[in-house]
Amino acid sequence: MDFDLPEEIAQVKESVRRFCEAEILPAIGGYEARREFPRPLIEKMGAAGFFGAAFPAESGGSAMGFLAVAAIAEELSRLAPEFGYAMNMQAMTCPFTIYNWGTGEQVRRFVPDLIAGRKIGMFALTEPGGGSDAAGAMQTIARREGARYRLKGSKMWITFADVCDAGLLFAKTDPAAGHRGITAFIVEPGSAPGFTARPIEMAGLSKALRSSAVYLDDFPVPAENRLGAEGEGFRIAMSALEFGRLTVSARLVGLAQACLEEAVSYANSRVIRGQPIGRYQMVQHLIADMAVNVEAARLMAYRTAWAMQTGRPSTRAAAQGKYLASRAARHAGNGAAEILAAYALAADSKVAKLKAYIDMLCVGEGTPNVQRILIAEDALGLKDANRHAVRNRFAGIAG
Ligand SMILES: Cc1cc2nc3c(=O)[nH]c(=O)nc-3n(C[C@H](O)[C@H](O)[C@H](O)COP(=O)(O)OP(=O)(O)OC[C@H]3O[C@@H](n4cnc5c(N)ncnc54)[C@H](O)[C@@H]3O)c2cc1C
Repeated sequence: MDFDLPEEIAQVKESVRRFCEAEILPAIGGYEARREFPRPLIEKMGAAGFFGAAFPAESGGSAMGFLAVAAIAEELSRLAPEFGYAMNMQAMTCPFTIYNWGTGEQVRRFVPDLIAGRKIGMFALTEPGGGSDAAGAMQTIARREGARYRLKGSKMWITFADVCDAGLLFAKTDPAAGHRGITAFIVEPGSAPGFTARPIEMAGLSKALRSSAVYLDDFPVPAENRLGAEGEGFRIAMSALEFGRLTVSARLVGLAQACLEEAVSYANSRVIRGQPIGRYQMVQHLIADMAVNVEAARLMAYRTAWAMQTGRPSTRAAAQGKYLASRAARHAGNGAAEILAAYALAADSKVAKLKAYIDMLCVGEGTPNVQRILIAEDALGLKDANRHAVRNRFAGIAG
């Protein structure tokens, strides 16, 4: 067993840092002020290879593998948390699912453009009735009409829906069949009338890279854009979330690391009663716990990447990793807030921003309770978390 990050992955992480410092950080304020989606930056990220690590060269990827996906997501979120979304919509949850489940033609039509950042993706599963039981709450209907489907219903909190060119959307083709009646579609919002996205203002989150409520009014989708078979949508959604949990875990690790760095920097410089507060034992206890939690969550995220890379069952690892990363990040966010005290509450406080993204990521791709249910049922021997083989067409491809 080798715990060293391979040299090429360390270099990728370093190039993400340089890119963030040179391209994203100087520009993001302008996009935020204008509430404008930073399309040119997403395209530059695509051109720099941020999104293609889990795709072979023939799809426009670098085939570096899932560990590279995790490392990129972690470093990006450490420095520019609002861009972490792109690791799901442009690298994993959306394009990887098309790559995994699509026909050759669908992969050719959509994947290279998504991972190059030329097309913006999305993953529209959640509805207003609740995200934790997405299948039970799903009211959106897809009605077959000759060579196309008509989609009617609404979705909630859909990231990048306001700027999406081609993304995934789940609807019921057989409402009486429960989760077996769900079908996945690749939708192109600009292709016809009937798709409306209304961005939702979120406390502490970006005003440029946003999530929306989506309204579907008999929106037409050609039958050739159906992903997988009718009724296969729930399986597809669950596999998408599994790979999405890798990026979300890594994003949480990056956020937790940033909180730790803020706390350490402040603890070393803030002098109270004649010495830096980092010399006080209670502050040291907090920092020690933060450091250990972040490292444990990082190792777990990398282990999930390894399981995915080698084609091993990864459901248990992905759920445990996401749960641990949520706890580590919440602890680090609260710890940093305690150490920075009043400064953590200022409107432009970096810690407040990091905490807002941590809260959001704890909710996304399955709340802590949803992970706990899966982990506990597995540990109690009630349901083996790894009982279903998850499709992974990329396993083993990377060098
Ligand atoms: C900024 C943002 C971006 C998002 N982007 C997307 C996106 O791009 N695509 C998408 O499809 N969704 C997206 N989501 C939605 C997200 O996936 C859901 O919010 C999430 O699944 C939780 O659903 P919910 O908010 O409806 O909470 P609910 O499902 O209503 O849950 C509320 C609470 O009840 C708990 N709970 C639920 N069931 C149980 C149970 N059986 N036992 C114990 N506790 C339980 C939950 O853990 C939670 O604490 C996004 C959300 C946010 C905030």
